[in-house]
Amino acid sequence: MSQYRAIRGMVDVLPDETPLWQMLEQTARDVLAAHGYAEIRTPIVENTELFARSIGEVTDIVEKEMYSFPDRNDDSLSLRPEGTASTVRAAVQHNLIQSPQRVWYMGPMFRYERPQKGRQRQFHQLGVETFGVAGPEQDAELLLMCRQWWTRLGINDELTLELNTIGSPEARASYKAALTEYLRERFDALDEDSQRRLDTNPLRILDSKSASTQAILDDAPSMTDHLDEESKAHHERLCQLLDMAGLSYSINTRLVRGLDYYNKTVFEWTTEKLGAQATVCGGGRYDMMVSQFGGRATPASGFAAGLERLVLLMQTLNLDATFDPDLYIVSSDENAFGQAMLEADRIRAEFPGLGVVQHLGGGSFKSQFKRADKSGAAWAMVFGEEEMVSGKVTLKPLRANEQQMTLSREELDTFLGQLERLTNEY
Ligand code: ATP
Ligand code: MG
Repeated sequence: MSQYRAIRGMVDVLPDETPLWQMLEQTARDVLAAHGYAEIRTPIVENTELFARSIGEVTDIVEKEMYSFPDRNDDSLSLRPEGTASTVRAAVQHNLIQSPQRVWYMGPMFRYERPQKGRQRQFHQLGVETFGVAGPEQDAELLLMCRQWWTRLGINDELTLELNTIGSPEARASYKAALTEYLRERFDALDEDSQRRLDTNPLRILDSKSASTQAILDDAPSMTDHLDEESKAHHERLCQLLDMAGLSYSINTRLVRGLDYYNKTVFEWTTEKLGAQATVCGGGRYDMMVSQFGGRATPASGFAAGLERLVLLMQTLNLDATFDPDLYIVSSDENAFGQAMLEADRIRAEFPGLGVVQHLGGGSFKSQFKRADKSGAAWAMVFGEEEMVSGKVTLKPLRANEQQMTLSREELDTFLGQLERLTNEY
């Protein structure tokens, strides 16, 4: 018997996990709104060239990870592997960059990678992009905002900020030349990947996972010696602002990031709790991209966080979220069910902060109460024969050590009002 399965590397998020996802997403929305960032939603599919040109022809993403296909008109399209290119495209197309902009997006990204824990072929990012501020204060704001998010999620203690500056394109070119020369003299000792990269993307060798290559890099020329004055000043002021805010970081001069478009500030938030997939968030400055896309030269800076890795980290720390209803409604027969349905409908309209689940599919009281228990609800609300006669309802506590109560409709509304206030406070 054949059975359909999800595509390899593409994952179903099941109902017992979605409360945690929703908490993560809602917290992000709250923090972003509190900093004046607005959401932007762009298509999942773009012209392949858009990604190839901005991310870089010789990056892993463009060389081997994109889901590209000809559409029926033979145009080459790609599922987006990241969100920055689309956001810049949209910002230029709709003239959003007249004055400074702060935007964010959240959604699925697609990369053909080897699936493992924290690495999928469809994964989700929260991305933030800012346009129009050239100074380091914009980078500082982004990093402080990250810290607010981590704190609200309860994971701030688990994350380290790694920071670097990769300078101006000219500084990078001069450093690239020096690094290439140094590495070419030691070509035979490099791992195979790094040998291949020496001609195409030598800076990527800096974050090679090979121990022998890393040992060679210990004595390699340092980016620091090639930095331009403006980038140096930018970096120093950023560090000063972070120091002021008590946000600690470690300078990692080998941090270059896998995408070509960065300049000056680059950073990653990493954790020791997730093995090889240690980076939960990465970003930096990309001051050249807007003009590359045909817009007026506009400084830009942003980051993207991987939601799967944040979920994994929270699960590792046993941080969880659940959706438990407040009321689970049971009824004795068809007549009582009808009454209960109307009452549930009324309660949801008048107490919109309450979660009200009605038992469907009949069955004995005993089996209905079993389901009520399993639902996680705080109270069972009973519509039995007695209640039909008296016009009252019975509330039976399922969790807390409370008394069972039989209430008139008026008393019930007072009680539900209190319950709703309590729920909202929490
Ligand atoms: P990595 O080095 O782990 O491949 P990256 O440098 O390719 O990451 P970015 O393009 O900067 O990642 O994306 C930002 C974040 O998105 C990463 O820090 C990570 O948390 C997440 N991410 C990237 N690729 C994947 C993936 N295939 N599966 C799950 N999360 C991912
Ligand atoms: Mg990658």
